[in-house]
Amino acid sequence: MRMVEIKDFDTYAINTWCPGCGNFGILNAVKQTFAELVNEGKIKKENIVILSGIGCHAKICDYINVNSFYSLHGRVPAPATGIKLANPDLVVVGFAGDGDAYGEGFEHLIFGAKRNTDITMIIHNNRLYALTTGQFAPTSPANFPGRSTPKGAPEDPLNPIEIMLASGATFVARTFAGDIAHMKKIFREAILHKGFALVDVLQPCVTFLNTFEFYRERVYDLQEQEHDTSNWEKAMQKAREWNYMDGESEKIPVGIFYKVNKPTFEERVLRGKRLCELPIPEIKEVLDKHK
Ligand code: SF4
Repeated sequence: MRMVEIKDFDTYAINTWCPGCGNFGILNAVKQTFAELVNEGKIKKENIVILSGIGCHAKICDYINVNSFYSLHGRVPAPATGIKLANPDLVVVGFAGDGDAYGEGFEHLIFGAKRNTDITMIIHNNRLYALTTGQFAPTSPANFPGRSTPKGAPEDPLNPIEIMLASGATFVARTFAGDIAHMKKIFREAILHKGFALVDVLQPCVTFLNTFEFYRERVYDLQEQEHDTSNWEKAMQKAREWNYMDGESEKIPVGIFYKVNKPTFEERVLRGKRLCELPIPEIKEVLDKHK
């Protein structure tokens, strides 16, 4: 078998992200993770499907040479669920921005977690709407002076890790776009996890909110401590250690907060059937049972 190389995942598209953007780290880590998993025989390149929403992150679909689908703003979990139901052999990885996933379409993320669909969601969390030039978003720091809030955002950020844990996600993790080795470790675990996996990536936007130094000085790895990833209460405690504020004394846990196994949505709906191989009346019959 020919080993795949990272360059096999390159495309001809010209990258238009700003030089130095945290998205480059995510792109590199994802390509390396895919190549390693393919070479280890854990996944097949032709079975990978990636999706994106709307925002700077979304161009990642143009930059990775695998099957891909541009979705609507905030709606990545919906087509990702449909793809997984149609053919459970596919490895479905959705990318979304923070404004996209935690603002426009948070309910889709919550229901993806609740259902435990076997998809991985990687959130490029730069904590603002970057493509539209820097408006505040759900995880922006309080008092953030964005384009739409020049006197400072009068709201505290929400904590997506806490909400994903409360929604039933069976894999919840955070990583940092300035640390490729850590991202690879987390992406690999998330993709191999059977069930809904959420990875919040702290992704500095060098143009509108450059947080590289802030994160470098504050992140610490949960897996280098005694953290029990099967304990939901402990995961919640760790999630609450940092509420996406930007104070000097903040310490930011990264790594896997929570990981457990439960039946997946497609296992419960399909019961061993493969929708992609059924005639349309039978597909309707299978899906009607779950209305
Ligand atoms: Fe990256 Fe920000 Fe530039 Fe978008 S605007 S490409 S997030 S640096």
